[in-house]
Order: sequence, then structure tokens, then C-alpha cells
Amino acid sequence: MSLVAPCFDLGRNLGQRLTVRPSRACKPSSSPVSRSFASFSPGSSSRWLRSWPIRRMAVNGTHAVNGVNGTRSKHDISALKVNQSRLMDAIHSGCKYGAAHRYGDDPVETGMARLSLNDADKEVRDWFMGVTASLNCKTTIDQMGNMFAVRPGKNPKAPPIMMGSHLDTQPTGGRYDGILGVNSGLEVLRVLHENNVETEGSIGVVNWTNEEGARFPMMAVSSGVWAEAVSLETAWNLPEVSPGDDGHRKTMKQELERIGYLGSQPASYKAFPIAAHFEVHIEQGPILEAEKRRVGVVKGVQAFKWFEITVKGRDTHAGTTPFTARMDSMLCAAKLIVESNAIAKKLGGLATTGILNQQPGSINTMAHTVTFTLDIRHTEDAKLAEIEETCRSEFARIAEKESEKGCKVEWKELVDSPAVNFHADCVAAVEASAKEVCEDLPMTADDGQLWKYMISGAGHDSCYTNRRCPTSMIFTVTKDGISHNPKEYCSPEDCAIGAQVLLGAVLRYDKLRAERGDLA
Ligand SMILES: [Zn+2]
Repeated sequence: MSLVAPCFDLGRNLGQRLTVRPSRACKPSSSPVSRSFASFSPGSSSRWLRSWPIRRMAVNGTHAVNGVNGTRSKHDISALKVNQSRLMDAIHSGCKYGAAHRYGDDPVETGMARLSLNDADKEVRDWFMGVTASLNCKTTIDQMGNMFAVRPGKNPKAPPIMMGSHLDTQPTGGRYDGILGVNSGLEVLRVLHENNVETEGSIGVVNWTNEEGARFPMMAVSSGVWAEAVSLETAWNLPEVSPGDDGHRKTMKQELERIGYLGSQPASYKAFPIAAHFEVHIEQGPILEAEKRRVGVVKGVQAFKWFEITVKGRDTHAGTTPFTARMDSMLCAAKLIVESNAIAKKLGGLATTGILNQQPGSINTMAHTVTFTLDIRHTEDAKLAEIEETCRSEFARIAEKESEKGCKVEWKELVDSPAVNFHADCVAAVEASAKEVCEDLPMTADDGQLWKYMISGAGHDSCYTNRRCPTSMIFTVTKDGISHNPKEYCSPEDCAIGAQVLLGAVLRYDKLRAERGDLA
């Protein structure tokens, strides 16, 4: 895909039709989480743009601050800084587990092959447990192996703000997709820990299981179970794509058990409610780099639909059948693919054919049947519908009028994933933080703005969390826009920018929820 290489696509396996209909934003419901943010007035957000009192927790557990009896001191957000070298050490330390595909001499010049629930995934999970324990977090594991590490705040009973992403990778993956998001969250916790900051509510990090869907073929399946968009049984019974050494395909549940990460906590937002979810992720596309910007404030995820198109013609001899007598399904399919590209370009979207098959497959015989996939995308649902409608009418016209004696075109819808709109409060928190972080950076963008609103071209765990709690994402620069590749790269400076924006966004949201009484 030209815009953004997907981190995952919901329901990628073609045999399985998946309709994904996330809410436009989190709807008020009877859950305590939803009630609390439904009552918030967006107009108050300007008050928390820059500074507020941060309560520092004395080592002895009382709330004495700066040696003054129990009073609060006012700290600017900019006083708290992530530690770039510590962040990078952590990223590369965790990447010991599953490192693969060496491309250079430096020890960190490898990609990753840490497929979900394999031995390397177990090792990095153990590493995550050790890190979060050292930061005084309580870590719980649910029935999907999702790991929730929570650092208690002043009001520990309220649902935590979670910073989440994933530690599994593609078989030829890199060191940043997902990994940067989890490590950014851990670095935020380290900053809070070393500064003895007591947040209003609890704050934590979540490692979602099998986001990539590379081993168990359903993307973001475990955040999907948490959101109750995917059933536990469906997820548990997913067989791995390739059989193991013993010739058997293990299920997710079997592998969760084998590596010791089948938790007892129900995998549900009801058992583990989240106040808000923030995810740092590499952009996976070329836009920030091309525009010389440093950070993306992600407002949502574009809509997409997948189809399998079948073109039926007639198999006849290549040498004896004149053009006027042909029903050439391959020629017809080629014209349809070219047309889909033109339609998507005209309407500001994307169209991609990734799979094409034909029968019978002979050099001197026309194909009687061609099937191809069509992936169409747009940031707006209405525009996506227009792309689909235009493709349907033009495909019918081309098949009938421009394919000699004509072919038949059949459509089968495989996936329908409407646009996701992240929550305004979370987007505002990320934006305020991004603006502040960018103030201290050298100006490189032609228009004088180092941050940019973005719509994600790929799906993420945040698509599912957005159904159940306010969510937003932070994008970082990705070298040459390359991901799902061992050479995937985000510079140490850009990794730290992502983590710093996360820190500011989370603390702003923590302040907001206290101000509006979520924690009362
Ligand atoms: Zn990812």
C-alpha cells in the first residue's frame, strides 16, 4: 500500500469474513469509565495545556513535597524528561529475545522474528515482568496473555490510564513496530518512578498479545477479545499458520499454556477497565519524514474494505481465437485493476490488488476464471462507499463493453472496517504535549510546524481500545517509511520524542480526569 504499510489489518485471512464496526467514539454507557468521560466538557481542555501541580510522593509514603509539610509544589510539565539513552538501552535489551536477520556489524543491526507466544516471546514477557516489578507495578495477566502493569496513583481504585502496544513481531520484522510503544510506556513509568511523582489515578503499560496476527491469523485479536469484539473461544482456538516441528498446528490457548502466560483474569474491559489508552507507534509510512516533521497526532484510522473479485470468461485457444470471439477473463481483470487504481486516485483513496489467481493456467489458453483481491481505503466512510460504488459500476461496464464478447464479474465482500475516530480528549492531550515538545526542537518543516494531524493507514490495538475507552495515538518518524522489515528504523531522537509526547499526554489526561471528578 502506498500510504502506509499496515502494522496489521483486521481479519487478514481471506477465508474469514470479519465485519468490524467500531463506535465513532466511545459512547456513554452504564460503565463507570464511560460515565465519567461522557460528563466532561471539552471546553475546559485549554486549562490543562501546559502546567499544573504534580504531586510528588515522598519516599516514606506521605505526601510531603519539597520539604514543605504536605503542600504541593507547582512543576511545569517540561521538568519531567524521558531519558533517551535509557529508552534505547531498554528497546535493544528486550530485542535480545527474538533478534534475527542481521544486516550490519553493530550489535543492534538486526531485525526481529518474535512471533507471538514462541519461546522468544516468553522470554521478553519474563523481561517485561522484571522491569515492571522494579518500578513497583502490579502486573496482571488475562486469559489472552495480555499483560497489564499498573503503577498505583493517589486514587488506586479508579481505572488506570494505560500506555499500550505489542511485543510480538512479524517473521521478518524490525525493532520498533509495537516495541517502541511498550518501551515508551515503560520509560514514562521510569520517569514517574525516579521523580517520585504520584499521579492522580493509576497509570500503566499493557502488552497486547498477537497484535501482528503473523502466527495466529487474526490481527489485534487479544485487544479485540478485551473489547468483546472477538469471542474468547474464537481467539483461543485460532491455529497457528504453520505447523511446528511435530507437524501439528498449536492453538493460541495451547501456546499460552505452554509458555505460562494463560492468565486467570477474564479478557474483558469489564474485568480490567481502562480510563484511557495511549499508543506510541512508528508511522510505518513516509509522510513525517518527507515533510521534515517530528511527530504525528493521530486522530483516527482510515476505513477499508476487502473484496474477492471473480471474473468469468471462456478458455479457448490462444492461436485460433480472434479477438472478436474471445471472452478473456485475464484481460478483463487487468483492466478492472487498472480502473480501480484510477478511481481511488480520483477520489483521494487507495486501491490495491495483492493476490491474483487464474485457471486453468496454460500458456496458450485463455483463462476461464480469474480471481483477485481488492483492498480499498479512505479516511472517510462516505468516500470509501463512493469508491466501491464507482468500482462496481465501472467494472460492470468494462466487463460488458471493453472485453470483446464480455465477461461476468462477481463480488464477494471479505472485510468491512469503517473509519475509527479517536476520542477528542485524548487527541487534545496528545496535541498539547506534541506542541510543547516541538517547541524545543530545531525547525525543519517548511511551514513551521513540526507536528501534524494524521489518520493511520494501518490498524492497531488502539482501534479496539477506542471502542471501550478514550484512545489516541502518537506517530514517530519512520526511516524511508519502511516497516515489517528487519531494517525498520526510528532514530533514538525520534523514539525519545515519541516517549516524551506520551509522558506529557498521559499526565495531561491524568490531570483532566481529576479536575472533572472521574476519580471521586
Ligand atoms: Zn504495530
